Amino acid sequence: MQLRAVRARLATDPVVRAAITAYVALGANLGDAQATIRWAVDAIMGLPSCALGPCSSLYSTAPVDSSGPDYINAVVEISTTLCAPDLLAQLHRLEQQAGRVRPYRNAPRTLDLDILLYGSAQVHSPTLTIPHPRMMERAFVLVPLAEIAPGLVPAAQLLVVAGQSCQRL
Ligand code: ADP
Ligand code: MG
Repeated sequence: MQLRAVRARLATDPVVRAAITAYVALGANLGDAQATIRWAVDAIMGLPSCALGPCSSLYSTAPVDSSGPDYINAVVEISTTLCAPDLLAQLHRLEQQAGRVRPYRNAPRTLDLDILLYGSAQVHSPTLTIPHPRMMERAFVLVPLAEIAPGLVPAAQLLVVAGQSCQRL
């Protein structure tokens, strides 16, 4: 099996138990978004088989490909033995608990939890794409990610998104 195939298998096989460092992006722009993001960080810390690593500051950002009030965004690092699909399922469960509804694509939301990176895995399934396909185009992802993991964000890419509003709170 090629290395790429082995990595894809490790990312999606629920019986594999090596701890993986993953990065999760948090966003919210409905309700008390700051309170929801703080709740979500605690809730991620409480997920089974997950340990919370560094957490970025909270940022206030203008909607990108979305609408409604400004967003609150953050990025957290976790160490997890969940496979990527199980991690996504747990994050979706937290979105549900926060009252997430999806009336249409890119609608304003009470809570959005996206997997940015899962170790060095590349996943391309109908329900999961890792690295997150739009992460490199979004200041609300790159700026908080660079705060906690500067080595993962090329300086040139930060310049590309520098025109997008992203205020540290
Ligand atoms: P958004 O693209 O704005 O985050 P949603 O949160 O509604 O929209 O997600 C839509 C779908 O995107 C999810 O149901 C999920 O299956 C899929 N998806 C694909 N890759 C990822 C990822 N890396 N992280 C989170 N969701 C993902
Ligand atoms: Mg999402």
